[in-house]
Amino acid sequence: MLRLSYASRENMTPLIMDPKLTYNNKFGTFRHSDMIGKEYGTKMPSHNGRGFMYLLHPTPELWTHVVPHRTQILYIADISFITTYLDLKPGSIILESGTGSGSFSHSLARTIAPNGHLYTFEYHEERAKAAKQDFERHGLSDLITVECRDVYKEGFGITDLVHAVFLDLPAPWDAIASAKAAFKQKRIGKICCFSPCIEQVQRACASLNEHGFVEIKMFECLIRNQEVHTIPIYTVKDAVSKIKVQQDKKRKRNEEEASNSKAAKSPRIKQDPPNLYVSKTPTEAKGHTSYLTFATFLPVLDDEVEIIDKVNELD
Ligand code: SAM
Repeated sequence: MLRLSYASRENMTPLIMDPKLTYNNKFGTFRHSDMIGKEYGTKMPSHNGRGFMYLLHPTPELWTHVVPHRTQILYIADISFITTYLDLKPGSIILESGTGSGSFSHSLARTIAPNGHLYTFEYHEERAKAAKQDFERHGLSDLITVECRDVYKEGFGITDLVHAVFLDLPAPWDAIASAKAAFKQKRIGKICCFSPCIEQVQRACASLNEHGFVEIKMFECLIRNQEVHTIPIYTVKDAVSKIKVQQDKKRKRNEEEASNSKAAKSPRIKQDPPNLYVSKTPTEAKGHTSYLTFATFLPVLDDEVEIIDKVNELD
């Protein structure tokens, strides 16, 4: 069984339970045998009394945080945006390439469970094997099929099956024809290409357009922190009183300095004023990983009535 040891946000480690092993970190020594059988969320004191850590469930969010990087990976900001924009939900059937480190695959599996399926393709044999092993360990084998193949050369080998396609490949345009064939041919579908450079976006857009995809849109997902501050709102009476307090304090200081005598008692504001919460957004926005190009697959329809039905489905 896999657990995540959480000592702090920067100090998380995936642990595969083995009663013979001991885990050491700066917070102490932790025996696996003490952790086995404990509920997720348990606060675990160290064996040598130095500190503690928490035992957490390997959720997709936490897994993305600790996954061994065999490649560049997708992070939560992009993952949540793509999942929403591709209309993914329980039961969706998805095609993904490349699998890479499997960061996105874990989130996809949770979204489509319990009866959806993810077909993920990776041409690097070691990465495909490692991802497969991770999915097995995390109990996701029923939801994910990993296949080792070069999708540029061999295509996906899937027809009329998937609701959505996600391509995180250096040359997604070389996989678009095969991806198109993989869509359920009588339904509207969504595709997303994840590319770091704008030149790749341009080529992907041209190819999507050529293959009859519509509603082609590109997004960039950036992270902007909101800095929240509070500003006290004084009534005129309280503001005057506050100025008096300050003046009195100043006078008191001066008097003390001059004669070391006692200062007069200052008027006080009876109550703290209410606060106004304001938020500032720093102009700098960090977090560019890639551009997200989305497009819609239009179904192959037999007659006009079907087209009207499908357009209504879109609204
Ligand atoms: N989205 C993944 C994640 O979140 O962990 C990372 C994907 S990684 C950036 C891109 C992967 O595409 C690499 O592992 C690479 O080996 C794979 N790849 C590149 N060309 C491919 C091809 N022609 N067929 C299949 N996989 C390919």
